[in-house]
Amino acid sequence: MTTSTPLPSPANASDRDPWRSHPARIVRIADEIPGVRTYDVAFEEPAVRDAFRFAPGQFNMLHLPGIGEAAISISSDRRSPATLSHTVRAVGNVTTAMSRLVEGESILVRGPFGTPWPLDGVADAAGGVPGVVEPRASEIVFVAGGLGLASQRSAILELAHDRGRFRRVVVLHGAKTPGGLLYAREYDAWRAAGIEVELVVNDPGSSDPGGSRGWQGSIGTILTLLERLPLDAARATILCCGPDAMMAAVGKLAVARGVAAARVFLSLERNMACAVGHCGLCQFGPEFVCKDGPVFPYERIARYLAVPRL
Ligand SMILES: Cc1cc2nc3c(=O)[nH]c(=O)nc-3n(C[C@H](O)[C@H](O)[C@H](O)COP(=O)(O)OP(=O)(O)OC[C@H]3O[C@@H](n4cnc5c(N)ncnc54)[C@H](O)[C@@H]3O)c2cc1C
Repeated sequence: MTTSTPLPSPANASDRDPWRSHPARIVRIADEIPGVRTYDVAFEEPAVRDAFRFAPGQFNMLHLPGIGEAAISISSDRRSPATLSHTVRAVGNVTTAMSRLVEGESILVRGPFGTPWPLDGVADAAGGVPGVVEPRASEIVFVAGGLGLASQRSAILELAHDRGRFRRVVVLHGAKTPGGLLYAREYDAWRAAGIEVELVVNDPGSSDPGGSRGWQGSIGTILTLLERLPLDAARATILCCGPDAMMAAVGKLAVARGVAAARVFLSLERNMACAVGHCGLCQFGPEFVCKDGPVFPYERIARYLAVPRL
């Protein structure tokens, strides 16, 4: 399915004050998987709401006054910028406090920050961005472990609307159990739009809420899916998000399958505070995840991924 809807331009960081948070009301909360909810928020100031632009893969800093800030990917379709979705796992101070909020309450949001998935640059340019082959000929393969799919949902929704942009779009998603597969209610719509969706779990027989003895999908890890995916390596671009060890293994396997390291992109997660490259908390080798990433070409960070606990 294709559409001629024009894409909003990505954010221009120089247009705004990156330190300034803006109030945003929670208009909807959806339970996803255990411990994970999606919060749809709308900026309360109309001027901020109208001006806000982001590109898939970028993140916001969600601020709960008196508690702190957390970096959270924007997981909604940028064609509907009036409401922004953030899918959050309650793990620490901010995210647990967030899990106690209800619809109608407000949080503070600043952003967007970070590098996007390399889709924009290839939308209309034959040359594209470095590392991505001519768009209509290319195969885009999303590889997501667990909550990593949240950082990719915005890009997937965009390509579901504009499927003709690439020759092939594939989503490989893995979780420990069937109940941990994120956005399960959306897979049928993604498939109907022409996106291939392949799922894998480590343990199909779990007794968690989504667990099922009737699991029909694959059993193993995300590497199981990537190993057997028919791939035109010369035309494939791999976009991966998940735990570091998984991403390192995906990078290696993709390269072993013939995909150029420059066309493998990984989105890193690190604790961060300022989000603009000043505090150094998210430093990863010579890179700052907040401003040089979170999306990096594998060839640039492979050597640092090999260093434990960096
Ligand atoms: C670019 C980027 C995008 C991100 N996108 C998302 C997103 O879309 N959704 C989301 O939920 N998170 C996302 N994160 C991660 C999120 O920013 C962190 O989990 C953040 O630290 C949570 O803030 P907090 O104050 O709740 O936790 P803190 O109080 O800072 O505590 C974090 C502590 O929790 C523990 N912890 C962290 N992660 C886990 C885990 N998975 N399981 C168990 N314990 C853990 C660790 O001990 C860590 O020190 C993203 C991070 C980055 C850098």
